[in-house]
Amino acid sequence: MTGYNAPIRDMLFTLRTVGDLDRIAALPGTEDVSIDLVEAILNEAGKFAGGVLAPLNQSGDKQGCVCKDGAVTTPDGVRQAFAAFCEQGWHAMPAEARYGGQGLPSLVSTPVLEMWTAANLAFSLCQMLTIGAIAAIDHHGSDAQKSLYIPNMVAGTWTGTMNLTEPQAGSDLAAVRTRAVPEGDFYRVTGTKIFITWGENDVAENIVHLVLARLPDAPAGVKGISLFIVPKFLVNPDGSLGARNDLVCSSIEHKLGIHGSPTAVMSFGDKGGAQGYLVGEPHRGLEYMFTMMNHARLNVGLEGVAIAERAFQQARDYAGQRVQGRVVDAPEGAPIAYHPDVKRMLLDMKARIEAMRAMAYYTAAQMDIAHRSADAAEAKRAQARVDLLIPVVKGFCTEHAILVASTGVQVHGGMGFIEETGAAQHFRDSRITTIYEGTTGIQANDLVGRKIFRDGGAAFRDLIAEIETTRAGAAATPEAAKLARALVAPLEKLGEAVDWVVRTHRAAPARTAASAVSLLHLAGYVVGGWLVLKQAQAAAALLNSGENDPAFLKGKLAFADYYATQLLPQAEALLAVIVHGAEDVDSFDPALLAG
Ligand SMILES: Cc1cc2nc3c(=O)[nH]c(=O)nc-3n(C[C@H](O)[C@H](O)[C@H](O)COP(=O)(O)OP(=O)(O)OC[C@H]3O[C@@H](n4cnc5c(N)ncnc54)[C@H](O)[C@@H]3O)c2cc1C
Repeated sequence: MTGYNAPIRDMLFTLRTVGDLDRIAALPGTEDVSIDLVEAILNEAGKFAGGVLAPLNQSGDKQGCVCKDGAVTTPDGVRQAFAAFCEQGWHAMPAEARYGGQGLPSLVSTPVLEMWTAANLAFSLCQMLTIGAIAAIDHHGSDAQKSLYIPNMVAGTWTGTMNLTEPQAGSDLAAVRTRAVPEGDFYRVTGTKIFITWGENDVAENIVHLVLARLPDAPAGVKGISLFIVPKFLVNPDGSLGARNDLVCSSIEHKLGIHGSPTAVMSFGDKGGAQGYLVGEPHRGLEYMFTMMNHARLNVGLEGVAIAERAFQQARDYAGQRVQGRVVDAPEGAPIAYHPDVKRMLLDMKARIEAMRAMAYYTAAQMDIAHRSADAAEAKRAQARVDLLIPVVKGFCTEHAILVASTGVQVHGGMGFIEETGAAQHFRDSRITTIYEGTTGIQANDLVGRKIFRDGGAAFRDLIAEIETTRAGAAATPEAAKLARALVAPLEKLGEAVDWVVRTHRAAPARTAASAVSLLHLAGYVVGGWLVLKQAQAAAALLNSGENDPAFLKGKLAFADYYATQLLPQAEALLAVIVHGAEDVDSFDPALLAG
């Protein structure tokens, strides 16, 4: 496996051209953010990601985690790397300044999270889950809970988990059965949770489990689920660790990928009930989880970007040194990177990554505007944009990560299928990203039902109008004109698809659901194309101003052209699939599959 070099130039370019870093740095509460600071953070993070985390990726995959008598051992080197990660402040970095973090805008922490994930997805999940648990306690917990748990979680001394899934409750959390019975000032929690990421580990002194459970008087369905803090070790009022709580990791899963991340089956209350503490009000647990969802889904979308980047770097480096066959129109000994079909594959990987990264960073910037802007109307519009784009970022970036990682295997030929190169690991690791934190089908249902139909397509039409403004303006930049022209038809088709959903969804929801994933892809291609276009415009302007990095800028223009001629035509074809294909799927009876 080759190493990982954080693509800092790409990241900075995207932060500036698509994320509008200067604007984000001018928002209230971000006064200390400057381009120099961001560059310094990315440079240092890049060293840790490439130097410490990336070398543990393949060995962690090979060795995996072990569970014995309820204790989990992570692969060699992980404990030390985690300790260094915390000591150098990287674990705390994304947290609010009042808890010891750096209080940076999401736009700035996003490329840093991308680096951890690209270097070592399995490792990065521990921090990602802890960030989610901190946010849940911070938003909905009592002051006492915040001061008791959050500082240690920010420091990484304690880690956090999300315990949602049960054998009968996966996509449908309304089916959660874990029970919580009041007893004095706490609750007795009993039940089994499965697939809990980093649910047991040897890197932290304590693990703060956030658990969805039902109270005895809870109404059925989603409105009867409450949220509890259930620590592995009880915490005394002075913050010191107390007795072991009644919960245990009964096993860990054997998985297709992310072997370095322990995925635990958690058993609560085998000895009478684990002590749990209610977060917020009873019966509002799922609603609280939903407030965390935008960040969690953005971060999983970002996992797609990260793993695609890692797979690309590996394929590019391999293709640059592997010699095989005479390359037409190239000197003797030219490596396979010059074969037209390999060039196509590398360009394909890169062009998709350009769109994916741009989409994730743009959405992070909109989150910052939504949370920090002093202009209420601007904040509201940004929030509507975030709500609309989150399922697209999550669904599109993860689906395309699998595609990119698969192409990475293909570039390697047979060596891609052999584990020693590491190309296969990226493919295996990427496979989970379309499943957890809401499958692609669930994202697409959300896009169609909640994000398009509910407001009659208004937020989407606002986005389409903005894309059209950029597109029309870009036609005047010769270097970007090809992509500007290529966007005309897909943009029109996206508008038609939105109108179709608005017209059809109430009367035939099964039909729109049958086309929802195709619509998500169409939206992803168009939004990605819009943001690649913005980058092409910026690259052309810099090139014409004599910017001294012409190869980098010319690359941006080449990726934009590829996007125009190879990817957008695929998007254009999706409208027919959406409108005419839905009926065939909707009317199909799965019983016919029996043959
Ligand atoms: C490695 C790993 C780590 C995980 N980490 C965690 C964790 O930390 N905490 C946690 O709580 N959970 C975790 N999960 C669980 C994960 O979130 C669930 O696997 C996921 O939500 C899907 O649920 P399910 O597996 O029950 O699949 P199902 O819900 O049974 O889905 C099966 C298929 O049916 C489709 N489907 C189901 N319902 C619908 C619908 N309404 N519309 C359209 N299609 C539908 C799905 O898209 C999917 O294709 C993890 C899972 C894995 C594998």
